[in-house]
Amino acid sequence: MAATYLIENAKVISGGQHSQVPVLVEGDRIVAVGEQAKTSASPDVSRIDGTDCTLIPGMVDAHCHISFDQPKSNDELFFHRRPGLATVIAAVNAQKMLRAGVTSFLDPDCIFDVGIDLRDAIDGGVVEGPRMATGGNVLITCVGGTAGQLLPSEGKLGYAVIVQTKDEIVREIRKQIKGGCDWIKVHVTGLPVRRTKRHNPGEIQSWSLDELRLVCDTAHALGVPVVGHCRNSSSTRDAALAGFDLIFHSSYMGEDALEAVVDNNTPLAPSFTFLRNLVDYGDKINSDPGLKKIFMNEIEATSAMIRRAYDAGVPLMCGTESGFSITPYGDWHYREMGIYVEHLGLTPLQAIACGTEAGARIFGLEDELGRIEPGYIADLVLVAGDLEKDLNLLGEKSNIRAVFKGGKKIDLSRPLPDSWSIPGWRTGQFSSQVLTYELAHSY
Ligand SMILES: [Zn+2]
Repeated sequence: MAATYLIENAKVISGGQHSQVPVLVEGDRIVAVGEQAKTSASPDVSRIDGTDCTLIPGMVDAHCHISFDQPKSNDELFFHRRPGLATVIAAVNAQKMLRAGVTSFLDPDCIFDVGIDLRDAIDGGVVEGPRMATGGNVLITCVGGTAGQLLPSEGKLGYAVIVQTKDEIVREIRKQIKGGCDWIKVHVTGLPVRRTKRHNPGEIQSWSLDELRLVCDTAHALGVPVVGHCRNSSSTRDAALAGFDLIFHSSYMGEDALEAVVDNNTPLAPSFTFLRNLVDYGDKINSDPGLKKIFMNEIEATSAMIRRAYDAGVPLMCGTESGFSITPYGDWHYREMGIYVEHLGLTPLQAIACGTEAGARIFGLEDELGRIEPGYIADLVLVAGDLEKDLNLLGEKSNIRAVFKGGKKIDLSRPLPDSWSIPGWRTGQFSSQVLTYELAHSY
């Protein structure tokens, strides 16, 4: 018989509302909420006391790179990873996410085919991890993405595959879908090699609207959605016009981009956490101080437009860009919600809805994932304290009292390695500063 749980006395947050109701879980589903949960619970039900706790649906991280293993540089990521070991390590990192309360996530692009292999291992019950949707290698034109000259002008490297012609675009998308990708990802912008006055804020658009339409037509014909990295205004506009199913960053959106996003009801996941972590904690990890100002400006300039999109009914998800040294697995997945409260002016209840139910559409499960209602999949997180008063409570691991994925209670006590030392896996750097004669002889 399927395990049953009755979670009592907790503040339940779901669908932008809060209430003090018992919740009954049977098998992989929530079967009753409220008085009926008590009356229909069997005598041998496992009772969980949620006094002074908040119960929320499992978090959905819409932007997480599970295969990267927290690189400090693109050099490390592109040249110092091996497919087999990357997959083994990703399986450990996925467990860290699950224990932090992330019960579902989208990995938009991976190195090698790690995402596909890990997803299938999780789905097949080989390893424990969040529900996962995965892309393959991100499609990039030879203009490049955010890695500049590190990427070649053809072939594959790291997370990227470089496509030159319309035929290649079509062939690569079909190949990825045949290989098992849930999503196709496109780097719609990249870094300008030489920034001039003609360049707008953010990155430069490296795909034409026609090419973006071709991507969507090809993927959609096979029932697969498309996500774009769009770190300027025109790319956000054109991705929305082309029919993209999700846009990351949407940085520096202008009026025309906002209009396209609203008209097409294109979901957004700005992924501010990566930027904000560097702004707040960059000093502790010797980050480039110049980036702080740039990133804070990007958050502020973009937030106002995202709020307008949200008010117009555009779905807004939470993505954190976890997977880099600035955003390690299991630590920061909750943070985007707090940033929405601070920068977009959302209420905590609205932000929690963004961090949970809004992400259900990643999987096409809008009617059964992300809420605490009868019939919904039993993905739940029980957290000590009142989350409506303080979203940051989710960041403190000792506050996580219970995590359920599909009705299965996750063992939070079994030890996991939190770091590892593998020859050739991490790259060192000569130094964080230039050793001038003056520095050497200063005190
Ligand atoms: Zn990313």
